[in-house]
Amino acid sequence: MAHQVTLLPGDGIGPEVTVAMKMCVDATGVKIDWEVCEVGEKSVTRYGQPLTEAALESIRRNKTAIKGPITTPIGKGFRSVNVQLRQSLDLFACVRPCFYYEGTKTPVKNVNLMVFRENTEDLYAGIEFDLNTPELARLRALINEMSPKKVKEDAAISIKPISVSASKRIVKFAFDYALRLGRKKMTAVHKANIMKFTDGIFLRSAQEVAQAYAGRIEFSDCIVDNMCMQLVQHAHTYDCLVLPNLYGDIISDLCAGLVGGLGIAPGANYGDEIALFEPVHGSAPKYTGQNKVNPTATILSAVWMLRHLKEEAAATRLDNAVRAVLKEGRHVTYDLKADRNDPTAVGTLQMAEAICKKL
Ligand code: NAD
Repeated sequence: MAHQVTLLPGDGIGPEVTVAMKMCVDATGVKIDWEVCEVGEKSVTRYGQPLTEAALESIRRNKTAIKGPITTPIGKGFRSVNVQLRQSLDLFACVRPCFYYEGTKTPVKNVNLMVFRENTEDLYAGIEFDLNTPELARLRALINEMSPKKVKEDAAISIKPISVSASKRIVKFAFDYALRLGRKKMTAVHKANIMKFTDGIFLRSAQEVAQAYAGRIEFSDCIVDNMCMQLVQHAHTYDCLVLPNLYGDIISDLCAGLVGGLGIAPGANYGDEIALFEPVHGSAPKYTGQNKVNPTATILSAVWMLRHLKEEAAATRLDNAVRAVLKEGRHVTYDLKADRNDPTAVGTLQMAEAICKKL
């Protein structure tokens, strides 16, 4: 029987990379009924909102979805659809595998990291108070009354909630996932020396959860700024990282850079029942419609989706096909060439075709 999967093409380069991905997945022979739903700018034009209940309902029904990136207007306009999706569907865990693929331009070799990011709270919770609003004035007055530290008149405020329950949930998810993959080490990343209450909760929750895995997975912790330096210098010595939302966002882009850039970094978001796969990169609006960008990140996201659908053999074949094309370095997009202006670089669809031929 065919798998039912919701496909959200997204904005900018999203439609191009998802067409390339779909071509590769269909070429594996795995039967998928793709239910395509518009989100982002096209949804605003058509339905007056970037994320409709119909799109959410499709994901809830199919339980598996894959998406292209969605544009978020900076500082104005609609709130991030990505954040809305994660919050509405309670996709509490963001997983970003960062593996070295031969043929990619990387500052370091042999990186083999799984990054687990908490997805629902922290500064991403969306609890923000803008300048010149009565809500901000009330909050500032309250804080100034309760705290010896004062908030300036011209400061906006974003709230950083970190709970014991969400912290334990992501850390437990990370350990269980790591065990399934046969991983050996987990590092919790935080800034608990400065944010003693919020990050303190994250660290203590991680330490507590880690006890149940003692003897199976080695646990350590690291302060986020030190982690950045460690990753640049010794990324190969780390195995799995688990982080609160904001640090997870930043560190996963850093890790994407370590394995050759956003063009090849896949991602997945998991809830208790639903899984939503997506590349780490954004909608790169300046490349829209040019058949230019690298489809690998979205295709590798589909590899993880196939594993999730228990299509392990097809996932491995697709992963190997990507590996072969990257290693050869001939039918690859501009970002994977030594010189970004190399005229032998191929387009998005041509790279996907080369991957299909290796299947
Ligand atoms: P971006 O990832 O879209 O682009 C940054 C640069 O990375 C691009 O200019 C390009 O040089 C390179 N790049 C990205 N994807 C590539 C690919 N597949 N192949 C080759 N090169 C690639 O980041 P941005 O410019 O900060 O964000 C653009 C928009 O995307 C914003 O609206 C942002 O909010 C949104 N965004 C969405 C998601 C998501 O949907 N999950 C994630 C990140 C950013």
